[in-house]
Amino acid sequence: MSARSAGGRSQARAGKAPRLRVNPIACEAHGVCIELLPELIRADPWGYPIIRPGPVPDHLLPLARRAVASCPTLALLLGGQK
Ligand code: SF4
Repeated sequence: MSARSAGGRSQARAGKAPRLRVNPIACEAHGVCIELLPELIRADPWGYPIIRPGPVPDHLLPLARRAVASCPTLALLLGGQK
């Protein structure tokens, strides 16, 4: 396999990799997600989450899914969009 095709494959995988996002209308700044996943989510000065851009690394996917499931307002989403 050439380096070029391997790079193209990893780019395609990165494009489909799950990403976290927040519905700002639904989020009520409970902060649960920030406590559960500080590796990817930090609080803004008002307690609302700021998510690190980019795909969720494989080793953090279980924690990301847990944070999504724990959000009391269903505002935290994990999807494969670009
Ligand atoms: S747990 Fe849900 S409601 Fe609370 S800060 Fe995170 S996204 Fe917002």
